[in-house]
Amino acid sequence: MNTGFEVNSEARENLKNAKRVVIKIGTSSLTYDNGHINLHRIGKLTRVICDLENQGKQVVLVSSGAIGVGVDKLKLPSKPTEVSMRQAAASVGQSILMNIYNQFFSEYGYTVAQILLTKDVIDRADSKQNVTNTFNELLAMNVVPIVNENDTVSVDEIKFGDNDFLSYVVASLIKADALIILSDIDGFYDKNPNEFKDAHMYHTITDLSERIEAEAGGAGSKLGTGGMLTKVHACRLAAELGINSVVANGNEPEIVYDILSGKDCGTMFVAKE
Ligand code: ADP
Repeated sequence: MNTGFEVNSEARENLKNAKRVVIKIGTSSLTYDNGHINLHRIGKLTRVICDLENQGKQVVLVSSGAIGVGVDKLKLPSKPTEVSMRQAAASVGQSILMNIYNQFFSEYGYTVAQILLTKDVIDRADSKQNVTNTFNELLAMNVVPIVNENDTVSVDEIKFGDNDFLSYVVASLIKADALIILSDIDGFYDKNPNEFKDAHMYHTITDLSERIEAEAGGAGSKLGTGGMLTKVHACRLAAELGINSVVANGNEPEIVYDILSGKDCGTMFVAKE
C-alpha cells in the first residue's frame, strides 16, 4: 500500500515538463520574525522566476505579505484583528510589496503586473473569462503576473479566505502544469513538526485520504494565516483538476529548480489522471 512516505520518482519526472507554473509564497517566508520584509529572500525568489522565464516557462507568482508589510510600515504592534484596520494595512503593504517586486524583476529585465482578485470575480462567468484572458495575454508577453487577494475590499461574502486556495484558483484559470506552494516548513507531515519531534514528512501523495488530510493543522507563525490545512486542501483540488503540486520550504527559493527538475523535495501531490 502506498503510504505517501515513499519517494515516487516516476511522478516527479512529470514536473520536468511543466511549462506553466504557479508559485505561491506565504507571509512567513516573506517577512522576518520581527515583522520586517525579507529582501534577501524576495531577491532570490525573483531571480529564480526570471531564470525560469528565460528557460521558456511561464510563471505566475501568488504573493501574500500585504498585511504583514503594512503592519510593519504603519508600525502597528501586531496584526490587527479589526477588519477595517487589516484592510488599511493591506492597502499600504500591497503597494510597497509591488514596488519591491517591480524593482527586483526590473533588474533582470522583466515586467510585472498586479492582479488583485476577489471570489465574486471568479464566480461570474464574464469576469472570470476576462481575468483569464488577461492572464493569458500577460503570460504570452512574458510579463510576470503577481496575484493577491484584494484584501482592501474583501469581505466574507467575496473572500477566497487564504492565498493557498487562491493559488489553486489561479492554477485552474491558467491551466497550469504545476502549482508550487512555498512555506516555512519542508513539506506536509503526519503531524505538526513544530509541536512533535517524531513527525514524518510525506514525499509523494497519490491518493489523499480524509485521514491524511486531517493531519494538517493550523498556522505556526505570527503573520501566517492558513497553516498546512489550506495548503493540503488547495493541493487536493489541484490534483482533482489534473494539476501536480508541491509544498516545499521557501527558505531557499532555489528549491524551485530542484522541484522542476524532478528531484525529491517537499511533498508532491500527484495529479489525478
Ligand atoms: P505560510 O505563511 O507559508 O502560508 P503558515 O504559517 O500559514 O505558512 O503554515 C505553515 C505552518 O503550518 C508550519 O510552520 C507549521 O507550523 C504548521 N503545520 C501544522 N500542521 C502541519 C503539518 N501536518 N505539516 C507541516 N506543517 C504543519
